Amino acid sequence: MFLPRNGSFEGVTRICSYVLLTFMSIDQSSGRALRPTRKVMPEEARRHNRALVLQTLFTTTGLSRADVARETGLTRVTVSDLVAELILDGLVVEAGLSKRAGPGKPATALEFDVDAFQIIGVDLSDHSLFRGALMTLDGSVVTRVDVPLRGRGGDEAIALVYELVESLRSTATKPLLGVGVGSPGIVDLAGIVLTAPNLGWTDVPLEAEIAERAGVPVVVANDANVAALAEHSFGGAASDMMLLKIGHGVGAGLVVAGTAVFGGAFAAGEIGHVVVGDGGSECVCGKSGCLETRLAAPRLDAALAKTTTPAEHDAVLREAGRWVGIALAPIVGALNLTEIVLSGPVQLLDGPLVESLIDTLRARTMAQFHGSVKVRMTALGEDIVMRGAAAMVLSRELGVS
Ligand SMILES: [Zn+2]
Repeated sequence: MFLPRNGSFEGVTRICSYVLLTFMSIDQSSGRALRPTRKVMPEEARRHNRALVLQTLFTTTGLSRADVARETGLTRVTVSDLVAELILDGLVVEAGLSKRAGPGKPATALEFDVDAFQIIGVDLSDHSLFRGALMTLDGSVVTRVDVPLRGRGGDEAIALVYELVESLRSTATKPLLGVGVGSPGIVDLAGIVLTAPNLGWTDVPLEAEIAERAGVPVVVANDANVAALAEHSFGGAASDMMLLKIGHGVGAGLVVAGTAVFGGAFAAGEIGHVVVGDGGSECVCGKSGCLETRLAAPRLDAALAKTTTPAEHDAVLREAGRWVGIALAPIVGALNLTEIVLSGPVQLLDGPLVESLIDTLRARTMAQFHGSVKVRMTALGEDIVMRGAAAMVLSRELGVS
């Protein structure tokens, strides 16, 4: 048994850590693994199949055991055995009769129980406040807590994160599956924030520190990567997609072949300080013409404030969209992305900017392969990072996303 429904806090923690180790090998790859590096143990195969069954029930409601066997390719005996275990653990419940038509007597429908555990999701990406929420396993918000930053950074900001997690933990009404955190800056796979200049953080072992205080599994990752996972798990995004997050800065998260891409120095998607075109205004990083100088929300707001007519207003946004298109076209081409999702201020992004971005991508890529690339705003709004943080915990602890 992996996750006892009424298990003690310690029990849940220990068990989750056990499952975590299994999925670390998947998490740590920066793409689809090309070479096997070690043999698969029988216990791992069982855990893999268990996660496969759970993923099937997470994705589709009302399936019977026979449906699951058909969908997964596992034998009915194996499915029945794994489902029995999942029911004991409280993650799956029997919910009346399956509505699927078929010969023989109606079978029992199975449901993933989204209320079996709760997850805390934290978003540190806003420059003025930290957001947090207690969520069900499908990312629905139960309780919210926002903490204003008031210019605080360094150790004071770290203390605020601990307070935020603690205040949400005290409101939990079910055992906690874990805590997920989306942080600005560069975050390694151990959840150490290597650098987050806006918060004045260098080498902050946030994941380990929160885990020690909260006593539950914790996962910390870059905010844009986390947002990409939210789109992948809860936003119906494609398996080859980029999430472009635009706010005070500009960042991106990538999912390629259904796998989150972190990169050799954990900075995949850090395109904000890539220079686009010649010239351009000076950037905080010392270069000129970085994508951030052409696209970050404060820069766009300042440029729009100087316009006097709707035509000038739209021209500013179209120009910004053109620069994004120029920056993204080679990435769409190189990775054959099928979807680009934008997250940020709707009044800036959704309109002339997106239209111009699409026009530019069309003009700069091959219609045959890239013509169908979809560009859209996220439907997850301001909760995107918190929900992605929940998706990370789900993936790490249960192997579903
Ligand atoms: Zn720069």
